[in-house]
Amino acid sequence: MSHDPRRNIPGIDRLLASPEAAVLLERWPRERVVDALRVAVDQARRASVADDGGHDLAQPVVHVDRARTHLESADRSSLERVVNATGVVLHTNLGRAVLAPEAIAAMRTAATAYGNLEFDLESGQRGSRYSHGVELLCELTGAEDGLVVNNCAAALMLSLAATARGRGVLVSRGELVEIGGGFRIPEILEQAGARLVEVGSTNRTRVADYRKALEERGPIGAILKVHRANFRMSGFTEETSLEELVQLGRSAGVPVVHDVGSGLLIDPSRLHLPPEPTPAGSMQAGAELAVFSGDKLLGGPQAGLVVGRTIMVRRLRRSPLCRALRVDKSTLAALDATLRLYRDPATVLERIPTLAMLRRPLDELHSLAERLAEELRHGLDQELAQAHLEVRPGYGRIGGGTYPEHPLPSWQVTLQLPGLSASDLARGLRAATPPVVGRVEAEQVVFDVRTLLPGDTDAIVRAVRQAAAPAAPAEPGTSVAAPASAAPGTSEAARTSLAADDSDPAAGPDA
Ligand SMILES: *Cc1c(COP(=O)(O)O)cnc(C)c1O
Repeated sequence: MSHDPRRNIPGIDRLLASPEAAVLLERWPRERVVDALRVAVDQARRASVADDGGHDLAQPVVHVDRARTHLESADRSSLERVVNATGVVLHTNLGRAVLAPEAIAAMRTAATAYGNLEFDLESGQRGSRYSHGVELLCELTGAEDGLVVNNCAAALMLSLAATARGRGVLVSRGELVEIGGGFRIPEILEQAGARLVEVGSTNRTRVADYRKALEERGPIGAILKVHRANFRMSGFTEETSLEELVQLGRSAGVPVVHDVGSGLLIDPSRLHLPPEPTPAGSMQAGAELAVFSGDKLLGGPQAGLVVGRTIMVRRLRRSPLCRALRVDKSTLAALDATLRLYRDPATVLERIPTLAMLRRPLDELHSLAERLAEELRHGLDQELAQAHLEVRPGYGRIGGGTYPEHPLPSWQVTLQLPGLSASDLARGLRAATPPVVGRVEAEQVVFDVRTLLPGDTDAIVRAVRQAAAPAAPAEPGTSVAAPASAAPGTSEAARTSLAADDSDPAAGPDA
């Protein structure tokens, strides 16, 4: 080794003056191009000679191309569209519910023009943002009053703060749950300024346990019942019904707050799902307050909904915390439009994408899987010459921390490329535009077609083609769409944590 090629790297000024750099200067401000060239040159200097893919480092184009990759990846929006091929319908890490066109239209109107957000058109006086959507919420759940805040965690915290700040809250030891993403009942209670009073045991809590705690551990501000949304208990178990708690609470003048979770507004049997607590059921049982999410089985935007007795909801509305948890106008618009679709029970299942996805018939999924396989075979004849491609039945999930034990029968396409491990293939798919997130199972990448949206099969074909291309560094003169991960300090870690194996985001570490 007589000579270190890194000593031939041109200076920044020479790079800037090169014809190749002129193209960059047309597209980006000079300062950004200079910065990107510095990063590129720095990388070339630090890379060991063996790592440099045999490029001639004296050539400006090598560094200019690298700089272009940095600039392009920096220009990519941090929040991008992703193809969800996991078969998990309410994938928390991929943004949960996809909104109905009606909701999008309402958001657009709210965002692009002024509106009567806090303005009473009749009186010409100030109105309340908290009035929007309430009538619908009441209509659909049988509640007296309602309130919309940022998410279900916020709705619960507000409910507990307004009913039990400085006092105790009774919770069964079997319901001190973690829902995901930092949502833990004891911590929410603490943040609400309430004192946790544990009742009963992990597997059995009787109404007598609550009564005893009410008598001995006062003062008590609320009784909290939490739906164990994301896990199941079986065996020697006993739980106190909501009705029993309501009866007990009434006799002691203590409100019952019910964390319902997913916000199902229709009978679960219409989705071929087993019974699940619903806000309407909660109101029927007499809970003073029930809280649930807007973006789980309700199929709307991220929001936390509170329904209940007027006197209680009014107390929440007056709390200073309510102001801190308030929702954006576009959320209110989307929620209102989504709720409106529930007014027609005959069409709601088709019009709300989450519900429609859950209902997609198996034969439709089968033909979609066949079509995806067909398009892959067509679009990739060379790469796929030795690929292993199979259409098979399989299971997806509802997700969003709901129905943890209810697999969703579906159809899938599995793919294995020669010379490329499944996790490398999955990584390549995540680096495509748009990124494709599938699952990795038994050394195969699995695409579950239930969660595909129109146009997604084309995107998958493109992504597979990109991922299957030889993973060589960019040839000089071309601008291979290098993954954002090529740049230092990008979200490779985040992307990797979205690795699509079944144990990870599919299950949703976050709800
Ligand atoms: C999902 C869930 C929550 C949290 O809802 P977010 O809207 O994500 O804040 C709270 N409680 C239960 C029972 C849930 O299932």
